[in-house]
Amino acid sequence: SKARMFDKESGIKVNFGDVAGLAEAKTELEEIVEFLRKPEKFTELGGKIPKGALLVGPPGTGKTLLARAVAGEANVPFFSMSGSDFVEMFVGVGASRVRDLFKKAKEKAPCIVFIDEIDAIGRARGKNVNFSGNDERENTLNQLLTEMDGFATNSGVIILAATNRADILDRALMRAGRFDRQISVELPDLNERQEIFEVHLRPLRLSEDVKSDFLARQTPGFSGADIANVCNESALIAARKNKKLVEKEDFLDAVDRIVGGLEKKNKIIS
Ligand code: ATP
Repeated sequence: SKARMFDKESGIKVNFGDVAGLAEAKTELEEIVEFLRKPEKFTELGGKIPKGALLVGPPGTGKTLLARAVAGEANVPFFSMSGSDFVEMFVGVGASRVRDLFKKAKEKAPCIVFIDEIDAIGRARGKNVNFSGNDERENTLNQLLTEMDGFATNSGVIILAATNRADILDRALMRAGRFDRQISVELPDLNERQEIFEVHLRPLRLSEDVKSDFLARQTPGFSGADIANVCNESALIAARKNKKLVEKEDFLDAVDRIVGGLEKKNKIIS
């Protein structure tokens, strides 16, 4: 989606104010922001700063957005890779990319390293040996584990990873000193959907009949990404009709389209 590309690829800084809802996840991540801002506060007392946290939840719920917001709040660089970039690669490429990423991160510490879709490389080892790409995936995973163990605790590099399948991850990733914290990022409830609408309605020129609480009630089961899509789509619908303002009916059309899309997706999955 457009919203997604905007957030991932623009250099624009994101902070917690851009993330609607997810109060608990934000509270847990605020601690990491503190670690990055004032590591001495913890290390002087002999504390060990965690190396990583795993963000777990369904697609489009704001895991990437949260990770970027942690970097934004702490005002540190953000490095990211996606596990899916590492499937079907030539031998050695995955491991060397992981090595390069951590080398860069260590040079720029304090910083955040974000690994999206970590399940693509972090699935439990020794299963699915029928896939030819499997060995290379294992090499990549092993390199990741090596890197996580290799840099010193309190080095200032904090690794955030995202998955919607924590259950299939290799247990080794969850061991102490690796991703020993899990933060749950769930689909938004009614109030959270309203908050997310408010964030994504901000840039639009709206007619007075558009109300965030109404829209929240029309969109049960929608993720934040779906809501961002609805807002963008409704503006495009209104523009096609040469309107000067985006109206309630444009939102309802957009909701119908997204619901149609979601139903199709579910059919393919099931
Ligand atoms: P995936 O698992 O598919 O990678 P994700 O959980 O990382 O998804 P994001 O990429 O962070 O989800 O979300 C996609 C977009 O949806 C965001 O860039 C943002 O525009 C919107 N979005 C999702 N959740 C929220 C939220 N809680 N508040 C505001 N916007 C949100």
